[in-house]
Amino acid sequence: MVNGTIAVPPLTSLFGLEFLRAGGVNFMRSPFSFGSRGVAIDLGTANTVVYVSGAGIVANEPSVVAIETNNGIRKVRAVGDDAKLMMGKTPENLKTIRPLRAGVIADLEVAEEMIKHFIRKAHGGPSRFTRGPEVVICIPSGATSVERRAIRDAVTNAGADRVSLIEEPMAAAIGAGLPVAEPVGSMVVDIGGGTTEVGVISLQGLAFCRSSRVGGDRMDDAIASYVRRNFNLLIGEGTAERVKFEIGSAVRPGDGTGLTSRVRGRDVGRGMPAEIILTQGQVAEALAEPVNQIVEVVRTALEHTQPEIAADVIDQGITMTGGGSLLRGIDTVLQDSTGLTVRIADDPMSCVALGAGQTLEDKLLRGALLAA
Ligand code: ADP
Ligand code: MG
Repeated sequence: MVNGTIAVPPLTSLFGLEFLRAGGVNFMRSPFSFGSRGVAIDLGTANTVVYVSGAGIVANEPSVVAIETNNGIRKVRAVGDDAKLMMGKTPENLKTIRPLRAGVIADLEVAEEMIKHFIRKAHGGPSRFTRGPEVVICIPSGATSVERRAIRDAVTNAGADRVSLIEEPMAAAIGAGLPVAEPVGSMVVDIGGGTTEVGVISLQGLAFCRSSRVGGDRMDDAIASYVRRNFNLLIGEGTAERVKFEIGSAVRPGDGTGLTSRVRGRDVGRGMPAEIILTQGQVAEALAEPVNQIVEVVRTALEHTQPEIAADVIDQGITMTGGGSLLRGIDTVLQDSTGLTVRIADDPMSCVALGAGQTLEDKLLRGALLAA
């Protein structure tokens, strides 16, 4: 059970102008047509973003669930922002879980609770007068048929009336405004928490895709190992991520040092809390390996792209999405190593949800959804 009260988006966003414009007329005719509104979910390894047709993005929270165990009974204590704050600081009987850690659902039961939480938040859940929503959910392009089934079942169990799946690179490309329906090849590189997905899209289909388990989490791990190796200091994943946000860079700063950041953790030898100062040059050195792996995935994808589509990619360049594309200088590194123009999409962390959401609103994009 999800604990406590369930947050519902403010009424203004449910009945706002946007909603009325996007088919709200039906709603005026039938006050109980809530259930006909669609929900699109980008169930990311790091963040879950929820889109409601006609209302836009209504939730954007970490994909983290805090589970409390009392007398052998497991109960959800917090989901999203609240749960992320507890990470690394929980007592014995409380555990924070990232159910999608490795890019696929690692803990199905907890993932289902999380999906339930977000659907309720977006839709209010089915009641006497309403049916469950139609849900479009994104899946990594590399998901096996068993994993696809598991995600579909989890969404159905969470109360959805109808479930459609869409591959993440496709949703990212739609959300980034690429011409997915045309006979023009576009390349999108989505760097998320757990994976980097490269997709080449043409005529509403994925002409090629490649997924690799390297992304923001691996960058955080690389920073933590670097600090441990060179300073004998143990730091948590939250601290490593904060360092990445503050001074992380894919390229070394001109003077070799760049910005600096204070980092606190536990000294391995003395077992005592300690603080060090880390430079941007050091963080860039720590990040070199995951960054190179990302470059390699993109190069492999380019090598496998059909010649006609490759010609389009020279014209159109590469579009980056996902939180990892916000790492300083990653676009430059990709541009230098491929010789292609690289652009970071507007609002890169929302592209996947926006793209999946557009398939609910634009009938022409329905073809981008996967058949059941
Ligand atoms: P997912 O789709 O897997 O949930 P997101 O697209 O939401 O992932 O991106 C989350 C990842 O992006 C996290 O690893 C996060 O640390 C990273 N990230 C977010 N903002 C930045 C930034 N400014 N610089 C570097 N990495 C970032
Ligand atoms: Mg993602």
